[in-house]
Amino acid sequence: MKSTEIIEILKNTGALLEGHFELRSGLHSDRFFQCANLLSRPLYAQQCCEALVEKMTVAGVLNDVDTVVAPALGGIVVGHEVAREMGVKSIFVEKQDDKLYLRRFKIAPGERIVIAEDVVTRGGRVQETIDIVKDAGGIVVAIALLVNRSGGKVDFGYPTFSLLEMEPVTWEPAECPLCEQGLPLVHPGS
Ligand SMILES: [Zn+2]
Repeated sequence: MKSTEIIEILKNTGALLEGHFELRSGLHSDRFFQCANLLSRPLYAQQCCEALVEKMTVAGVLNDVDTVVAPALGGIVVGHEVAREMGVKSIFVEKQDDKLYLRRFKIAPGERIVIAEDVVTRGGRVQETIDIVKDAGGIVVAIALLVNRSGGKVDFGYPTFSLLEMEPVTWEPAECPLCEQGLPLVHPGS
């Protein structure tokens, strides 16, 4: 899938929004990916995740993968669709007291894992998920992202694939020109 087609899908589903947003990282931006709007349309979500798996397949990294692990909530649908396309198991880690845990699943030592997430800005949740997989003795094979907003700044130390790389314009709140213009700040509820 070409990036123009992907962007069209993101806009048509309302996943790519324009305005004045506070990102999960605390930074402000004039754009926000509400990936839930893409994922609320199963056929589009499937198409996008298929294209993501295709990228990883072409790169030759998907050898003997057992399981896809995603951080809840945002990553769950992505992980599920990616796992379906790969024909493997799909599990998730989930937040408790502001920290991610593997609560209702087990990872066996040597289990080969792809980590899936919807949007990465600073990569904190993916890094937490990597740490959980490694602590359990799992082997991280690759990272699969729908949208990488880090502008190439995030390096997890594993092969990382994204359907779309789009570095947003972001500002520290004190330096945000949209705040200065008095535009109401939207908390998109990611
Ligand atoms: Zn602002």
